[in-house]
Amino acid sequence: MKYFSTNNKEIRYSFKEAVIKGLAPDNGLFFPVSIPKLEDEFFQRLTELSLPKIGYEVAKHFVGDDISDSDLKKITEEVLNFPIPVVSIEDGVNTLELFHGPTCAFKDVGARFMSRCLSAFAKQNQKEVTILVATSGDTGSAVANGFLGVEGVKVIILYPAGKVSKIQEQQLTTMGQNITALEVDGTFDDCQALVKTAFGDDDLNAELNLTSANSINIARLLPQSFYYFYAWAQLQPTNKKVVFSVPSGNYGNLTGGLLAKQMGLPIDSFIASANINKVVPDYLSSGKYEPKASVQTISNAMDVGAPSNFARMMELYQENHAEICKDIKGAWFSDKETQEAIADVYNRKKYILDPHGSVGYLGLKKYLNTDSEVGVFLETAHPAKFKDTVEKVLNTEIRVPDYLQECLGKEKRSILIGKNFSEFKSFLLLK
Ligand SMILES: *Cc1c(COP(=O)(O)O)cnc(C)c1O
Repeated sequence: MKYFSTNNKEIRYSFKEAVIKGLAPDNGLFFPVSIPKLEDEFFQRLTELSLPKIGYEVAKHFVGDDISDSDLKKITEEVLNFPIPVVSIEDGVNTLELFHGPTCAFKDVGARFMSRCLSAFAKQNQKEVTILVATSGDTGSAVANGFLGVEGVKVIILYPAGKVSKIQEQQLTTMGQNITALEVDGTFDDCQALVKTAFGDDDLNAELNLTSANSINIARLLPQSFYYFYAWAQLQPTNKKVVFSVPSGNYGNLTGGLLAKQMGLPIDSFIASANINKVVPDYLSSGKYEPKASVQTISNAMDVGAPSNFARMMELYQENHAEICKDIKGAWFSDKETQEAIADVYNRKKYILDPHGSVGYLGLKKYLNTDSEVGVFLETAHPAKFKDTVEKVLNTEIRVPDYLQECLGKEKRSILIGKNFSEFKSFLLLK
């Protein structure tokens, strides 16, 4: 499979080049030149296949010869080693629990897959890779954890001192091994600027094999299609149409679902569920795409005003608004509605939604016709990750999974640095 940039379809890149570069040189997003249609035989066997096997069968079309079959099998087995169950909530309404990975968020799937692809390429090139990640706190832990203990890869996380929550900081600073946390005396923007400057610095590039691990990497997107196949299989047999509601911010998760549909998975439609950061629902209703500054909400991983994967959605539908609207409906909900749904589902069903899943649930309920359809909303984080918000709504304490609990007791290890580039550069060169 070859890839092009969403800004220029003439130049071709291999999977390996696309993964190592992350972003195309023209700042476009990498996109496969064609979406493979999977074989009938694959769909006939789908209900019998394990999650890693599904991952392998899907991934091999996109990876091609860049990673050997046996390595790719190993990668999917390692990455997808936690359950992703469909759980029934109420009549016709199910949730796909994507939060059983090491950091309790769906981003584990993409981050772990990308990390192992990069590791495979580092081995091929026999040169250690240094990953620089700037984080505002939330996604850094999934990325760093994805690389934990991965051979041939060193990770440097930059986070703004005093600007991440206690639990986030513990997650970032207690991993050890090949992960180093730099606590930057500045803002998230300062962290990002340091990383950007490093990528453009000749001395550093001569000395180190620098790579980014940002959310737009194609190796984070592709694995987010695997679990739609697995969810669909878990719903069988059904004579109803299958609908997915996806709580969305940068729309990588939803784009994974759109890819699965184009590969032939019989998904009838999607619901793009958002909080007040609703540029995509607005685009679906008006045909106009108007990025905005983001607004803070209780489903804060979806506080995105200019979703990075919108370009890929446009690519999938050749910018045809009518075609997009056939497959995707938009919905958005306020914090108050999100809180009410958390309370309602808990009171009626004793199921605890996190704020993001709650938005997904609301989107599904808005459109689902249970006579002819069966629905799945994606639960993208464990409710304990948003403990304060959820406990305030439910008036009860919720259980924190062992992984999150564990890191609270560990010793924090970080290196404090200033926000000027020279200090950061000397640190990298001394490493
Ligand atoms: C990142 C994230 C989202 C949004 O996913 P996108 O792929 O950016 O749309 C939703 N929920 C949680 C918990 C997240 O971390």
